Amino acid sequence: LTSREFHPSDTIVEVGDLKIGEGHFVMMAGPCSIEGLDQIMECARIAKAGGATVLRGGAFKPRTSPYAFQGLEEEGLKYIRRAADYYDMKVITEVMDEANLELVCQYADILQIGARNMQNFKLLQAVGKTGKPVALKRGIAGTIDEWLNAAEYIANQGNMNIIFVERGIRTYETATRNTFDLSAIPVIKKLSHFPIIADPSHGVGVWDYVPAMAIAGVAAGADGLIVEIHPNPAEAWSDGQQSLNEKNYLNMMQQVDIMNEAM
Ligand code: PEP
Ligand code: MN
Repeated sequence: LTSREFHPSDTIVEVGDLKIGEGHFVMMAGPCSIEGLDQIMECARIAKAGGATVLRGGAFKPRTSPYAFQGLEEEGLKYIRRAADYYDMKVITEVMDEANLELVCQYADILQIGARNMQNFKLLQAVGKTGKPVALKRGIAGTIDEWLNAAEYIANQGNMNIIFVERGIRTYETATRNTFDLSAIPVIKKLSHFPIIADPSHGVGVWDYVPAMAIAGVAAGADGLIVEIHPNPAEAWSDGQQSLNEKNYLNMMQQVDIMNEAM
């Protein structure tokens, strides 16, 4: 169901009035974690100013350490929904387990499956049953074949609203958090009919390198970008080192817009 052979033309994922994979580039931006109403409102303002139509933000956070901030949960979902509605944006947020799926569905327009859950097959089947748009992140050490099979678990439950998200994979390199696999974009485009967006923030993990990889993602044919921003990255509760402040985000978006026009 996921393959280009099965479905030769591009699938367009509709999120309300927003279409992903239509040839029109889609921008998603927001903080790694929702930290409070003021913070997510400010992030939404900045995101929108740069042209984003989808607001990202985690309320359930898959943290490496169990002692790190785990997210505001339902309170956070309420805040991101309010901020997105205020700025007329869509919400993308991660769902970590089946237990909270119904709850997350009440607030989200797009369900994000995190890298650590790419092969959580029960969760994939459960989001498949909802029929909601699903952004499927590539696993930390996921091959493209494994990623396509993960998408198949969603599609064969009747949900053809899948968006692939390239977010880098683990390699021996340590100068960047992950190795951002740009080549995955044309490969997925060839093998599958579903749209693919690039997440250069997790791809490189250092804010300084994010704009270059964002532009490269657009040049490689991505249908959109998802990036982390924060009004004050130094104070962010998670992933501050890879978050763009307002000025850096707006500068990057100018370059992204130029690249999009050139494409
Ligand atoms: C995130 O989007 O903040 C996140 C946790 O991403 P990933 O699952 O790609 O690590
Ligand atoms: Mn993050």
